[in-house]
Amino acid sequence: MFFDNASTTKVDDTIIQNLKKINDEFFYNPSALYSEGLKTKIFLEKMRKDILKNLNAEDYELIFTGSATEANNLAVFGTLKKNIRKILVSIGEHPSIYNTVCEIKNQGFQVEFIKLNNDGSVDIDDFKNKMTSDVGLISIMHVCNENGAINNIEEIVNIAKSINEKVIIHCDGVQAVGKINVNLDNLNVDMYTISAHKIHGFKGVGALIFNKKIKLKPIIYGGGQENNIRSGTENVYGIYSLYKAVDIAVNNLQINYNHVMNLKNHFIEKLENTGISFKLHSGNNCSPYIMSISFLGCRAETLLNLLSDENIFVGNGSACSSKKSGNRILEAQGIPMSEIESNLRISFSKYNTIEEVGYLIESISKCVNDYLLKIKKHF
Ligand code: PLP
Repeated sequence: MFFDNASTTKVDDTIIQNLKKINDEFFYNPSALYSEGLKTKIFLEKMRKDILKNLNAEDYELIFTGSATEANNLAVFGTLKKNIRKILVSIGEHPSIYNTVCEIKNQGFQVEFIKLNNDGSVDIDDFKNKMTSDVGLISIMHVCNENGAINNIEEIVNIAKSINEKVIIHCDGVQAVGKINVNLDNLNVDMYTISAHKIHGFKGVGALIFNKKIKLKPIIYGGGQENNIRSGTENVYGIYSLYKAVDIAVNNLQINYNHVMNLKNHFIEKLENTGISFKLHSGNNCSPYIMSISFLGCRAETLLNLLSDENIFVGNGSACSSKKSGNRILEAQGIPMSEIESNLRISFSKYNTIEEVGYLIESISKCVNDYLLKIKKHF
């Protein structure tokens, strides 16, 4: 049973079922000049428009990329100018932003990291202190992939633009789109990243949505596809999966949200009844899709493997950073190391059921108790 949906999700059946038709009608190269190429190009443009419409971003542009990681790199490297003096980034960003800005810091740019609150959201007071008129670029994620914290992007944009109206603001929306309401017109950011495989589309496809005023420099050069910003023949199948996944998720947002919220509430209530010692690191204003939770006295890796033997798959923090010890984000939340070492990330999708959550609780209870008993015997 899969409870690691913040790392990836199962592709929606509708997308799989429609693939044969997409392949029959649109396998052509969208840059080809004959009629079928043109038809494929028209289909591509329709999908681009529909994604923007679903995110209330009709005044924005959209560039398809090979992942959200690439879109995040494009947002940073594509807008970087020698005259940008200072870059502000939250310390809670995904490695695709965090490691990118560490690289540009090495290249001599001034990068400052904004602290997190205990609940994993960006510390607005720290942001206000660091937001000066010489900040040229900001990147702050919408929903944190480790703990589900939702950042108040509108407030951040208002503060930033009141200090420097020309500052470029990027937001990584990978864990937000299709899970909470995303209205780009209201958010008023300059750039927004999305990914298909977190919302039941294919792996290896994402997009950067951006304000028409932004002049993006390419980071991949070649045949000039995607308006000369991202060369390479467009991945029409992947793009179809992104378009359809966004459409399904946005149009079923409230139903899925209620379902997942119900799963989370059920999980916490039942877990409390087991008497196991645990600590939840996700606060009140967070996405119900992601939970960061410590099982006190257990090492996360061992518990994860024990659960895996019970056919339960959970994460121990972001899959992209799971090979590294410690956890930058939980540390920034001020969580003690003993709790970080016993922390698992449990993340739901629309496909999880109450029965599965029941089995999850049973398995956690069994594995934690077996684990603690073994340790007791050992000492
Ligand atoms: N940003 C966030 C918040 C994520 O959770 C992830 C994936 O874990 C990414 C970016 C990278 O997405 P992709 O796998 O499409 O490169």
